[in-house]
Amino acid sequence: MDDRTYTAEATPGETVTVAGWVHEIRDLGGIAFLILRDTTGRIQVKFEKDEMDDELVEMGLGVSRESVVAVTGDVKEEPRAPTDVEVVPESVEVLSRADTELPLDPTGKVDAELSTRLDNRTLDLRREAGQAIFSIRSEVQAAVREAFREADATEINTPKIVATGTEGGTELFPITYFGREAFMNQSPQLFKQLIAGSNLERVFEIGPIFRAEEHNTPRHLNEATSIDFEGAFCDHNDAMDVCESVVVAAYEAVAENCAEELDALGLDEFEVPDTPFPRISYEEAIERINVTGELDEQLVWGDDLPTEGEKALGNDVGGHYFITDWPAEIKPFYIMDHDDDETLSTGFDMMHPRMELVSGGQREHRREELIAGFEAQGLDPEAFEYYTKMFKYGMPPHAGWGLGAERLIMTMLDLDNIREAVLFPRDRQRLSP
Ligand code: ATP
Ligand code: MG
Repeated sequence: MDDRTYTAEATPGETVTVAGWVHEIRDLGGIAFLILRDTTGRIQVKFEKDEMDDELVEMGLGVSRESVVAVTGDVKEEPRAPTDVEVVPESVEVLSRADTELPLDPTGKVDAELSTRLDNRTLDLRREAGQAIFSIRSEVQAAVREAFREADATEINTPKIVATGTEGGTELFPITYFGREAFMNQSPQLFKQLIAGSNLERVFEIGPIFRAEEHNTPRHLNEATSIDFEGAFCDHNDAMDVCESVVVAAYEAVAENCAEELDALGLDEFEVPDTPFPRISYEEAIERINVTGELDEQLVWGDDLPTEGEKALGNDVGGHYFITDWPAEIKPFYIMDHDDDETLSTGFDMMHPRMELVSGGQREHRREELIAGFEAQGLDPEAFEYYTKMFKYGMPPHAGWGLGAERLIMTMLDLDNIREAVLFPRDRQRLSP
């Protein structure tokens, strides 16, 4: 069906049909240019008014910006053209006419508010920078899948409509399921563990998570994409190794394959993070944060790290790092504690200097301890019977983690707002488009 030639591939000497959007019309009097844009770039179409059929000239130059046109003609070398070639048209077909008033300017010459851009994503992603973010996101997902395969993990898909949430609480979106109460899943946690206990052993998933969090910040979404890993016979250190290799693989793929996109985003100093990522204990983390003096109050053992604290430590470390050995009491029930110290958990977070990217840990695979953990967290183990039951039939030690895909992209590309990395973000205000 698509037998047109991409603008980037139009070669002098050929007769081609190029198709795309009218980026701009430059009328210089006797001569005029239509700049046609497609997914690969732009090409100049030259109209010499005196030498060409009036109808053709009228068709090509009378069309509004952002209309979709197909132009057939000869490709000529033209050193003065932006791409050194131009098309001399024989025919112009208008496939879809655009309104003369546009809600935003796809050439990017006029800035638009983020909300206007999100309301008009189609137009917004005709801008180079917008297109670049989502090309890179696609590259990252491909690289992550490849890295997981190298780690012998199998891709799985788990349900997003569930009877009980992973950790219960107020962060669940309730829905009605044939007259029964159900929820949108906040994490594939319990399912991926159940499958790590099957013969698949090592699994990963890239899928949506839903969080009914009330807050409205530049790094939270109510629907996000989680990159999850779970591996049988892995401990928390193995899980951190896989985490580091997946994140680095994503950066390497982008550095290698996305030079143009990085350029469009002004990221000429893009760097793959150094490895190994430092592994800093929670205890050391709070000490280092306290020393910076950035917080009004000193942190004490057992405190969760406030956002300002994470930033202060991030500045201090200066790259990706892990925080390990958290107090058991502030990590979820399914995370295992250290054998030799029950107040310490094997849970870890992986941090970018700006924010948390990953939470993970070794899981509690001993059924009695797991059930005690449910109770300690105020959850009813009965509601999770489908899960705890499988721990009766041979559950290997296992570990894993969840990485926010949008936070990975946001920090990788130095975006101010996580919404830039989502096509159609869901937040407190935004449910459409
Ligand atoms: P935070 O404390 O930053 O809100 P969290 O500890 O609640 O995050 P986890 O439940 O540990 O998040 O989820 C694992 C990862 O999934 C996070 O590190 C983050 O990258 C991503 N993630 C979680 N919640 C969100 C959200 N609301 N929006 C975007 N990404 C999220
Ligand atoms: Mg977390």
